[in-house]
Order: sequence, then C-alpha cells, then structure tokens
Amino acid sequence: MKLILKRACVCEKCSARFNAPDLGDYSYGEFLLWSASGECRYLNAFEDETYKEVIGIVDLYEKFHVEDGFVQEVYGRVACDPDENGFFFHISNPPCPQCGSTNIVSVGDQSMGEFAVKAVTHFLWNSLSYEDKIIRFRAVALELMNK
Ligand SMILES: [Zn+2]
Repeated sequence: MKLILKRACVCEKCSARFNAPDLGDYSYGEFLLWSASGECRYLNAFEDETYKEVIGIVDLYEKFHVEDGFVQEVYGRVACDPDENGFFFHISNPPCPQCGSTNIVSVGDQSMGEFAVKAVTHFLWNSLSYEDKIIRFRAVALELMNK
C-alpha cells in the first residue's frame, strides 16, 4: 500500500474534471497501472525485480526495443496479476471516469488529499519457470503486434 497524492485532472476529450492519483514530477522509475475496471496499482520499477526481468526478456529480441516504451507497453499484461474482474493492468495515465480516455492533463497542485494505492502483485508470473515467462512474453508481444 502506498499513499499517493491526488491531483485535479481534466479530460482533453470530454472536459470532465476529476481527482486522480499523481506521482508528481520527481517520480522516475515509479508508475501507476490501471485496469479497465478503473482499479489502480503502484509500481516502483527500481525495487520490483519483475520489471528488470521483463527488460531482460525484451532485450533478447532485436525487434523489440526497451528505449521506445515497449517494456511499459507489455509489462502489466506479462508480469502483473489482473484485477478481480480479470482485467489486466497497464501503465498509463489515469483514465477519465466519464469517457475512459487517458488523454488527460493534470491541473493545479497535488493538494487534494491522498489515495491509498495497492502495489502490483505477481503471483502468476513468479510461479512460472524462466522458459514459461518467455512463452508468456511472446504471446503478449505477438498479440500487441497484431493489433
Ligand atoms: Zn473524458
């Protein structure tokens, strides 16, 4: 559980205003992940071994590049347990509660109180052998590439 400050946000698509957890400007290596149910999880990529594991697997493939955000694109699906509705988590901006767009801008200060956000879990991922982790990664990568 991590306490994360709230910040007022505005959706660029539908102009809805809402408060969302915001890691602030000095949060290198920290991410929030969101599911389609609107659940939020916290990740500290420096402390979480699974993030380094996924980077290591992405590095095995010449066609995938760590630098262009590919790890962040696949990480939640590959290594994190889904929410209670079975939806995977994805590193992104907070989705707009009205229209679901992640095209949001934060406005104002981080002065709106705090959210208690759970850390991501990796029960499935951690139960896999290295070979099975690679198989899982390949399945997710393939699905994303065919979208
Ligand atoms: Zn919206």
